[in-house]
Amino acid sequence: MGNTKPYYCTTCGAYEPHRAPETEREREWLRHTFHKRYVEDYWICTVPDCRNVRYARKVYDPPIPMPDFD
Ligand SMILES: [Zn+2]
Repeated sequence: MGNTKPYYCTTCGAYEPHRAPETEREREWLRHTFHKRYVEDYWICTVPDCRNVRYARKVYDPPIPMPDFD
């Protein structure tokens, strides 16, 4: 796994490692979902089956999980 940062995950209710988007498919989904061209500053909770998405300084309520494209 690449770089991760600890952020508070509202779904997990704890600080968990978050990763940047990893694939073009994830980036495309982020662009469509958040209507942004630049999506490298979104973070995804790495806890299995969580995948909660957050922006560095913003959490989403209700939580928005990244779909599992694998
Ligand atoms: Zn989480």
